[in-house]
Amino acid sequence: MVGEGVAEPASAATDAAAAAAAASVDPDEVLGYAQALIAAPSENPGGTEDEAADVASGILTDLGAEIRIVRSEERRPSVVARIGSGEPPRLAWNGHLDTVPAGDPTTWSSGPFEGAVVDGRLVGRGACDMKGPIASALAAVAALRRAGLSLAGTLDLHLVADEELAGTHGTRVLRDEGLLDQDAAVVGEPSEMEIALAERGGAWVTAVAYGKAAHGSQPHLGVNAILTMSRFLLRLPEALPDRVHPLVGAPTVNVALVSGGSAPNVVPDRCEVEIDRRIVPGEEDPDEVLAPFRRLIDDLVAERPDTRIEISLKEWTEAAETTGDSAIASVIRDAIAAESGSPPPFVGFTGITDARFYINDAQIPTVIAGPGSLSLAHTANESIGVDEMVEAARVYARTFVGFLGTR
Ligand SMILES: [Zn+2]
Repeated sequence: MVGEGVAEPASAATDAAAAAAAASVDPDEVLGYAQALIAAPSENPGGTEDEAADVASGILTDLGAEIRIVRSEERRPSVVARIGSGEPPRLAWNGHLDTVPAGDPTTWSSGPFEGAVVDGRLVGRGACDMKGPIASALAAVAALRRAGLSLAGTLDLHLVADEELAGTHGTRVLRDEGLLDQDAAVVGEPSEMEIALAERGGAWVTAVAYGKAAHGSQPHLGVNAILTMSRFLLRLPEALPDRVHPLVGAPTVNVALVSGGSAPNVVPDRCEVEIDRRIVPGEEDPDEVLAPFRRLIDDLVAERPDTRIEISLKEWTEAAETTGDSAIASVIRDAIAAESGSPPPFVGFTGITDARFYINDAQIPTVIAGPGSLSLAHTANESIGVDEMVEAARVYARTFVGFLGTR
């Protein structure tokens, strides 16, 4: 807050409040919140977020938040919680309640929903992606309360459903309800507390090769669709453009699924593949992304006239990029520097997150910054350092105070 006629700069009071908030983070509370969330399975696909939403709502009610559950058409719940004055400035903090499925429990060293702590690391499905980061944000809110601080602005927590399957039943619903209208947003996906300003998107492409069936003993009478497809797939890297984004790097291509053939003794007349082409910010036109694939097919046809391959776009998820010059980027950078001793770098995020809804659809300056490592997300024995969660809680407490002020 601005001190009237006081020589002390306005930021000094805010800095003191931010430090007090950070100092009030309770490490046991952070861990307890994360364990309670992990114990409430929310596998996606295969389940719903109801139990995890109940846990989060219970914690937030105890913290004095105003809570609303927003449901998708399929009744999937997102928790929208408001803390603070209701006045501007307003900040959104987004984390997803769903997780990928736990998979085979025998591949885990402890139960995926048990929340065991092993060598200082919390183990469980969602530990880093992203029930641990959500616990950090909740513990930051608790710390503000414990420190006796009231926010001058407004913090909107968006604890959403369905991020793992593209956000259709989660952040997208909040967008459609007009709830993405803050001045800035933080998406707490695991970035090892570096600040990601850009993320890649994806083009899922279906390719079908057609051939001519024949008796398996007379392959020369047919056209083998699997071999046609093989020639195409081996040359796919040629269909990548020569471009590198400064934060997220180059586009990539991955052949993800394949099916073809009907019996061991038949020359296959059809082969279908699903291709995952990751796009970088600046790649905005699906036709432009598909054009090099089509040129490659033309080349293959020129070499072998019996080649017949058709491609189509199955799904397009846009990439997103935001500026490092925003107020939220500078506030969270200072907060991380205050806790870790040095300002973090601006980086890119290799996965797809709900940040794109805030950045692209709502034009909100947004950063992706959360504890934990993306390389451990979706794995058996997913884990997060307890100290990482605690540090993140302190960073978020400083960020909430730094961006929103106190009164
Ligand atoms: Zn995630």
